[in-house]
Amino acid sequence: MNIIIASNNQGKIREFKKMLEPMGYTVLSQSEAGINLEVEETGTTFKENATLKAEAIYKLKNTPVLADDSGIEVEFLNMEPGIYSARYMGLDSDEARRNCILEKMQGVEENKRKARFVCCICYIDENGNKKYAEGYWNGKIAEEARGENGFGYDPIFIPDGENITSAEMLPDDKNQKSHRAQALKKLKKILC
Ligand code: IMP
Repeated sequence: MNIIIASNNQGKIREFKKMLEPMGYTVLSQSEAGINLEVEETGTTFKENATLKAEAIYKLKNTPVLADDSGIEVEFLNMEPGIYSARYMGLDSDEARRNCILEKMQGVEENKRKARFVCCICYIDENGNKKYAEGYWNGKIAEEARGENGFGYDPIFIPDGENITSAEMLPDDKNQKSHRAQALKKLKKILC
């Protein structure tokens, strides 16, 4: 079965392909499905934004669509950047956004560096029915950026139970444990 991932984020699409293709799905990015669209994320929650993205693509294609709205919440920063993770402080690169968080967290002691990745998936099936699943990945903000894998905030996030960042983890390992993997596992249970 074909699924369109309602995103232009190459990092996310790469991860969804790795997770869904072994399950027999053919995963198409927006551009592979011939869609040139940047949906405005005007919602106030991950769920609302995931819904906006999934609905916009479903209206165009009427085939199964999966949208994920995700981000990082940092306890010391009052759970920011949250739903604004992709555009935090108006900064226009992942590196600038990571450095901004590292600067704000400079000198903050270990037990106050708690953070979590959040992922909300909205799946719309071929008949237009919506299903939702959420995943969380707890950890802390590193003192400096490390690692080349993953994308976004991975180089500054150390998951609980690890002493490396999620950008230093092997992609297959991240794809077993991440917020996105956990949301997808829940969705699979709902769909079966
Ligand atoms: P969205 O397209 O609004 O869902 O943006 C999600 C943003 O959150 C991304 O651009 C990243 O900055 C961040 N993010 C979400 N998931 C991850 C992840 O798995 N690793 C690192 N950053 C992530």
